[in-house]
Amino acid sequence: MLGLMQDQPLLISNLIDFAERHHADVEIVSRRVEGDIHRYTYKDAAQRSRQVAHALDAMALEFSDRVATLAWNGYRHFELYYGVSGSGRVLHTINPRLHPDQVAWIANHAEDQVLCFDMSFLPLVQAVHSQCKTIRQFVALCDADKLPADSGIPGLITYEAWIAPHPKTYRWPTFDENSASSMCYTSGTTGHPKAALYSHRSTTLHAYAAALPDVMSLSAGDSVLPVVPMFHVNAWGIPYSASLTGAKLVFPGPALDGKSIYELIEAEQVTYAAGVPTVWQMLLTHMKPAGLHFSSLKRTVIGGSACPPAMITAFNDDYGVEVLHAWGMTEMSPLGTLCSLKNKHQGLPAAEKMKIRLKQGRAIFGVDMKIVDEHGAELPWDGKTYGDLLVKGPWIVKDYYKGEGAAPLVDGWFPTGDVATIDADGYMQITDRSKDVIKSGGEWISSIDIENIAVAHPAVAMAACIGVAHPKWDERPIIAVVKKPGAEVSREELLRFYEGKTAKWQIPDDVVFVDAIPIGATGKMLKTRLREVLKDYELPA
Ligand code: ADP
Repeated sequence: MLGLMQDQPLLISNLIDFAERHHADVEIVSRRVEGDIHRYTYKDAAQRSRQVAHALDAMALEFSDRVATLAWNGYRHFELYYGVSGSGRVLHTINPRLHPDQVAWIANHAEDQVLCFDMSFLPLVQAVHSQCKTIRQFVALCDADKLPADSGIPGLITYEAWIAPHPKTYRWPTFDENSASSMCYTSGTTGHPKAALYSHRSTTLHAYAAALPDVMSLSAGDSVLPVVPMFHVNAWGIPYSASLTGAKLVFPGPALDGKSIYELIEAEQVTYAAGVPTVWQMLLTHMKPAGLHFSSLKRTVIGGSACPPAMITAFNDDYGVEVLHAWGMTEMSPLGTLCSLKNKHQGLPAAEKMKIRLKQGRAIFGVDMKIVDEHGAELPWDGKTYGDLLVKGPWIVKDYYKGEGAAPLVDGWFPTGDVATIDADGYMQITDRSKDVIKSGGEWISSIDIENIAVAHPAVAMAACIGVAHPKWDERPIIAVVKKPGAEVSREELLRFYEGKTAKWQIPDDVVFVDAIPIGATGKMLKTRLREVLKDYELPA
């Protein structure tokens, strides 16, 4: 016997319809590439996303055709999120930090038909457009009077001119909720990038889950600043969850420096922000010497790479902002776990709470996870035993677009490539990427733990721990360190700083001071490149 509930597909267009009907006057504020602040409402965004849908229809774009973007977080990008997917096409957000050859490769692989780009990426588009064989229309995300005279890009049109002729009304099509809605390529540190292809159903379920109190806790009472880019894993789904809840949206555009972010948080009374540790580090570095404080910010989600304890402490103790540590990946839409305390933890001493907050958190309903040994046997949830982390759920990939790479699932589970522990309360903690784990004398050393200790030193801005071949121990850890501007610390002092903070055999064998640590297209430390840079390095005798 089937249930007698209405059979309504979960479609992305429903989200913007809902926001328009129930939160029509709620603001969406964007810092534009031009530097000025643009503000309008969900009603305006809904109307303009319908104009986008008409513009795509006018080009006779087929159902599931790909429309690419090279764009910062802003209102026009938001309209494309809804106009493209809502009309049945697939939004392909391209990471503009990738190498131009990779951008061209990705656009061809996805067979993009349209490319909409912010003017900051004009040089990139000029460099690659002739290699992009399938793109029929290039659209500059700028005002109608800002079209560059001699861009060299055939048929280039401004976004405003592209949508202006079309009505603000449109009947969103209804179709199978499993249809593809958007896609995102992983950064492909080895081989060609592979794409996760999200569906309307997976995106809507993820939007519901992300808004839950123990997840991102989004509500109509919030003013939300997604610093995480809309060009990488849909800004952690915030553009969808914001419409679902009616939260005010604040988009930072290209200005991700500490000063610009701080000013935006204050001006728009942001209550909630989401970003990767490197961006928050820039914010804290700006605020501390200037003696600044937040007047509205209450919570921030930090993920994408491990959040150092020093950052959680700084946000919490110095600024009264709760840090929610999150973990996920492109293949998981991206949210997998989020760290919030349970009721039984509320009375714990601060140091105990901190130990929990450092973990990547508990699985969100919809995500099932387990850790396994090298034979695939499940390992206990004791908070100590570590193993390969596997996940499954309705917003986790079952395959890559065009079946690139090996079929990813193992008995229905997706291997994340992360090594983790899970404790009895279900809190997962990442030890490492499996390729970054340091194996010393048959034991594993967590590079994340070693880095966290280094960045807790007041003179250290950034630290990356890698393994170096060792004749006796297989590998030994060394730590590459970038000092804070004007700060001093010696090798010996930093090694002494480890004493008592970790087991003796886990203390790095050496400190290498570097000017910078290579950062990849998604804001994470690129250890592969660091290893290349240090390839001639030899351990001290
Ligand atoms: P890409 O695949 O492009 O590198 P993703 O954003 O998909 O980028 O990266 C996913 C990986 O990032 C995870 O598998 C994990 O290794 C790492 N990661 C994400 N969040 C955290 C976190 N909170 N702590 C530690 N590592 C994290």
